[in-house]
Amino acid sequence: METKIEKIDKNKINEEIIEEAGMILKNGGLVAFPTETVYGLGADALKEEAAMKTYAAKGRPSDNPLIVHIAEYEDLRKIAVNIPAETDALAAHFWPGPLTMIFEKSEVVPYGTTGGLDTVAVRMPTDEVARALIRAAGGFVSAPSANTSGRPSPTLAEHVAEDLGGKIDMILDGGAVEIGLESTILDMTVTPPMILRPGAITAEMFEEVIGKVDVDETLLVAESEKAPKAPGMKYRHYAPKAKLMIVEGDLREEIFAIRQLAYKAYKEGRKVGVIATTETLPFYKYGVVKNIGTRENEKTIARNLYRVLREFDEEDVEEIYSESFAAQGIGKAIMNRLEKAAGHTRLSAAEIAKRQKYRRIIFISGTDSARAPMAAEMLRHEDLAQEYVIDSRGLVVLFPEPANQKAEAIMKSAQMTLENHVSRQLEPETLVEDTLVLTIEEAEKNKILSEYGTKANVYTLNEFVGSDGEIPNPYGKPLTAYGECYEILRELIKELAEKLNYIAEEE
Ligand code: AMP
Ligand code: MG
Repeated sequence: METKIEKIDKNKINEEIIEEAGMILKNGGLVAFPTETVYGLGADALKEEAAMKTYAAKGRPSDNPLIVHIAEYEDLRKIAVNIPAETDALAAHFWPGPLTMIFEKSEVVPYGTTGGLDTVAVRMPTDEVARALIRAAGGFVSAPSANTSGRPSPTLAEHVAEDLGGKIDMILDGGAVEIGLESTILDMTVTPPMILRPGAITAEMFEEVIGKVDVDETLLVAESEKAPKAPGMKYRHYAPKAKLMIVEGDLREEIFAIRQLAYKAYKEGRKVGVIATTETLPFYKYGVVKNIGTRENEKTIARNLYRVLREFDEEDVEEIYSESFAAQGIGKAIMNRLEKAAGHTRLSAAEIAKRQKYRRIIFISGTDSARAPMAAEMLRHEDLAQEYVIDSRGLVVLFPEPANQKAEAIMKSAQMTLENHVSRQLEPETLVEDTLVLTIEEAEKNKILSEYGTKANVYTLNEFVGSDGEIPNPYGKPLTAYGECYEILRELIKELAEKLNYIAEEE
C-alpha cells in the first residue's frame, strides 16, 4: 500500500485534505494525525473491521483497547453509559486536552475497539487538525499512538512514516507535537476515580476539581503481583532497541556514576548513550550524549523523550544510561515512561559511585606554573582504568598566569602542551573525601595539612607511589634542568597510573 503524506497547518487548515482523510476513515481506512500528546493512528471507532486493521498495522495485541476520540462533548453520551456526575466538571476543566476517561460502553461501540472490554476510553483532543478530522470522519475516531507496538510513541510525522509507512493510507503531517507523552488515563467506573496512566494532567490537578482520586499502584513499582488496570500498561512499551538503564540517586552522584559507566564502556569499546539535561551536559565526555531538555522546565523533557530514544536507535548504541527526574508534576509521567522503556532497570548511583575511591586528582606546587601542571598533563595522557578530573593548583598564586615557557618547551618536545594552562590558587573547599591531593614537595603537604586540616587524601607524589626521591625545582635554571625534571616526573606519573589502575581493580 502506498501511504500518502500530506503537510497540514493547524492555523490554516486545508479543508480538502481533511475531507479526503475523513472519507478514508469512513471507508474503513487508516489515517495517522497529530494530537497535542503524540501522533495517533485513526480509524472509525464504530467499525469492528477498522479496529482489526489498526491492531494489524501496529502489530499490537488485540486485547489492548483503543482510545475513542471525539470533538463534541455531547457525543460522549452516544458511546458511554452510566456517566458519573463528576464527568461534567472534569470535562469543563480538562477537555479538550490530554485526558482520557474510561466509562461503561454503549451498544454502538464494537468489542474490537475496546479489546473485548465492557468499558470504553474516551478523549477530546485540543489539536485543531485532530478535531477537524474527527468531525469529517463522523465524530468517533479510535486512535492509539501511531507507532509500531513496542517502539517509542511518535512525536513527529517522520516517526510515523518510519514505523507505519506502507501499512496505512495517509499521514497528516502537522509538525512536532506539543506535550510528547500520552494522555493521562482516568478510570471513571470506580469511586473515587483512578489514574491508570500518568500524563500531563496530574492527580493534584484532578483533586482541585473533584477531590480525591486514586492511583493504580501497579504503575510505579518494578515487579507488581497484580496486572495493571489499563491493559496496555503491562507491555514493555515505549522501548528503544538499546538496553536502557535509569541511574538513581542524588544528582551529583548520578552524574558521577554515569561518567564512570560511560568511561568504562569507552575503554571496553562499547557504544553507549547518555541521557543528560541542559544543566548536566558539560559533565559528560564519553559516549553519545544527548540533551533531553532543561530541569528548570520538565515539559521540555517530556516533549523530547521519545525523539531522543528514537535517535539512539538510529545510532546503534548498545546501552543507554539516563539520569532520573523529579517524581512530581509531569516528572511522574516522564519517570513512568522511562521506567517502562527501561523494563524497570534502575541502578543505584551511590552503589556505582562507591566503586571508585578518587574522583578528582589535584597536583600541588608553589606557583602552579611548571611541575604541577606538567604532572597533571602527563597523567591525562596515561591509560587509566577509571576517569578522574585531573587538575593542578598552587599554594601561592598571586594572579593567574600561563605556564612557565621552559616547561612548555619541554612538554611540546614530548608531544604534550600546557598552552591552555592558567595557574590557580588551591581552593580549600575542593579538599573533600574523594579527592586525591599529590604535592610536589613535602613542605606543601605539611602546609595543607596544618592549614586546612583536610578530609582529602594528601600525599607527596613520591610518597604515594612509594619512592623516596625528590623532584628538583628547575625554576631560574636552564632548559636542561626542566628536561631532567620532566624525566623524573615521567617515571613517577607512570608509577602513579599503575597504582591508580591497581586500586581501580581492587574496588
Ligand atoms: P495508546 O492508544 O497507545 O495511548 O494506548 C491506549 C491505552 O489506553 C492503553 O494503555 C490501553 O490499555 C488503555 N485503555 C484503552 N481503553 C481502556 C479501557 N477500556 N480500560 C482500561 N484501559 C484502557
Ligand atoms: Mg501507545
